[in-house]
Amino acid sequence: MFTHHRARGIILSAREKRDSDIIFTIFTEDIGKLEVIGRSIRKGGSKLAMGMSLFSFVEIGFVEGRTCNTLTDAVPIRDFREAKKDLGKLSLLYRVSEITLLLVHGQEKDERIFSLLLSSMEKINELSLSRRELKLFLCFFSFHLLYFLGYRMYTKKCVFCKGRIKGDCYFNPKEGGVACKRCFKRKPSGIYLEDVSSLNSFFKSDVSEILSENPAVFLKVLDNYLSFIPEAKGKRFV
Ligand SMILES: [Zn+2]
Repeated sequence: MFTHHRARGIILSAREKRDSDIIFTIFTEDIGKLEVIGRSIRKGGSKLAMGMSLFSFVEIGFVEGRTCNTLTDAVPIRDFREAKKDLGKLSLLYRVSEITLLLVHGQEKDERIFSLLLSSMEKINELSLSRRELKLFLCFFSFHLLYFLGYRMYTKKCVFCKGRIKGDCYFNPKEGGVACKRCFKRKPSGIYLEDVSSLNSFFKSDVSEILSENPAVFLKVLDNYLSFIPEAKGKRFV
């Protein structure tokens, strides 16, 4: 017997399969990451195709089969059209979805990741963002995602001597946190940060707090940190 389900979620990827099918990966509110197959969806006049545009927030119906889930209907809730019209924003949507697919494995509900995705899509759609700000947005999203997945950066105390960190310091990706200047002299590995409070701002809820930072520094922090995360190892992302 087939069981019928409903779910709401954000479409993170759409891969073509055979002649006219598409496999969608959706991050849902109630069941986490979900794959569903849209059968014959690429044939002209498919009603399903209308509701299933990439990066949209949708409500879907699907039946759970033995080997895969089959999409039965789709209702678009928000399609974030403004973001998709802008090339810079569209490429950010691809990066956000790419890093989520890279780091999130298995089917597990996670409300924080779901709301991070949804609120990020909304902000990307609404805010006016320069090229520099798009890069910072990607860091903001990625640091939050890593945090929710249990990869917490240590930014309050030095990862070596446990001394309190104030002002400038070095981000040590291998240790997953910051080192004070004294410890850096002994183990000179890391990325120089003018002020640790800038890094801390990336973990607050308001993205506007980080939009004046230097994207080169934080993209480097993200890239180096990812190289020590098992799920991302060996894959170039930034
Ligand atoms: Zn130290």
